Formats: sequence, structure tokens, C-alpha cells
Amino acid sequence: MRPERIELVLGDITKQQVDAIVNAANATLLGGGGVDGAIHRAAGPKLLEECRKLGGCPTGEARITQGYKLPAKWIIHTVGPVWHGGGRAEDKLLAACYRNSLALAEQHGIKTIAFPCISTGAYGFPYEGAAKTAIEEIKKFLEGSTTIEKVVFVCFLKRDCECYARLLKKAA
Ligand code: ADP
Repeated sequence: MRPERIELVLGDITKQQVDAIVNAANATLLGGGGVDGAIHRAAGPKLLEECRKLGGCPTGEARITQGYKLPAKWIIHTVGPVWHGGGRAEDKLLAACYRNSLALAEQHGIKTIAFPCISTGAYGFPYEGAAKTAIEEIKKFLEGSTTIEKVVFVCFLKRDCECYARLLKKAA
């Protein structure tokens, strides 16, 4: 796997010039706070209209919509696990979010994709463990995929960015 296929950015995911951005949504897919709210605000009201037709999404799975007013053509909505202390398969479910989002991206011929730090905001997943799972899962996927050219981790918090930088360096 070429390490340059993974990039790290400190910033706002709604501004990313990629084929698809991933939304850390909730199971209703009808919008919420955090990154979900930011994506709905930036994409415009047509996004909610399309989301209403999807009928929700179980934890660990992913659904795709158009990107509307975003620079990204697509939005992949995935539902991360709520952290309950680690005994409710939170890690496996978080890994599934990354895997299922990438599989859906591949099916749509998406070449560049940006991820937020799923579950680490309102859902309370410890950020370092979440970053480790994200990196591991994405590296594994990229080793078996030639379609996806670039994955961008978009960290909103400096804390997360520093953590990813450290872990990516270690994994290189
Ligand atoms: P969850 O419910 O999955 O925890 P949140 O939206 O509360 O989702 O938080 C997930 C991550 O998204 C957090 O790391 C938060 O800092 C980050 N975040 C919030 N707004 C943005 C944004 N505009 N772009 C990128 N990441 C964001």
C-alpha cells in the first residue's frame, strides 16, 4: 500500500474537494448536531429530503446520497456506535463503519473520500482507540482496493489531528 494514499487534514469536512465525504450520522439519518449538522447546513435542504426516503440506517452500516451544494458529489452516511464502556462491540461496530463506507464508495466508483472522526464527539468513543481502529481498517481496505486512490482523515480538533499524525507515523 502506498502511504501517500492516506492524508491528514485539520479542518472542516464540508469544504473538502473530494468525490465523497462521510457523515457521522445518527440512526434516523434525519440530521443532528456536530458534523451531521454542519453537513446538512452546507449541503442544503434537498439532502434532508433524500435522507427521509432512506428510512434510517443501523449502527455500523452506511448509506449514500448526493452531495447537493457541497464540493463533494456524494455523501456517505454511516452510523457510529455510542460508547458504553467498550463491552458492547463498539470497536467492531466502528470498524464496520469504515469498512462499509469504503465498500459503498468502491461500488460507486468513488476515488477520493474524506472521513471525520466517527463516534468521538457526542457518541463519546475515546479518541485514541477510535483513531487506531480507523487507521487499521482503512489500511486493510486499501491493500485490497485499487479503485480508491485517496482517503483523507479530516480532524476538526487539533487533539485528533496530533493523535492521527502520531499513529500514522508509527504505522508507516
Ligand atoms: P458522533 O455522534 O459520531 O460522535 P459528532 O459529530 O458529535 O459525531 O463528532 C464526530 C467528530 O466530528 C468529532 O471529532 C467532531 O470534532 C467532528 N466534527 C464536528 N464538526 C465537524 C466538521 N465540520 N468537519 C469535520 N469534523 C467535524
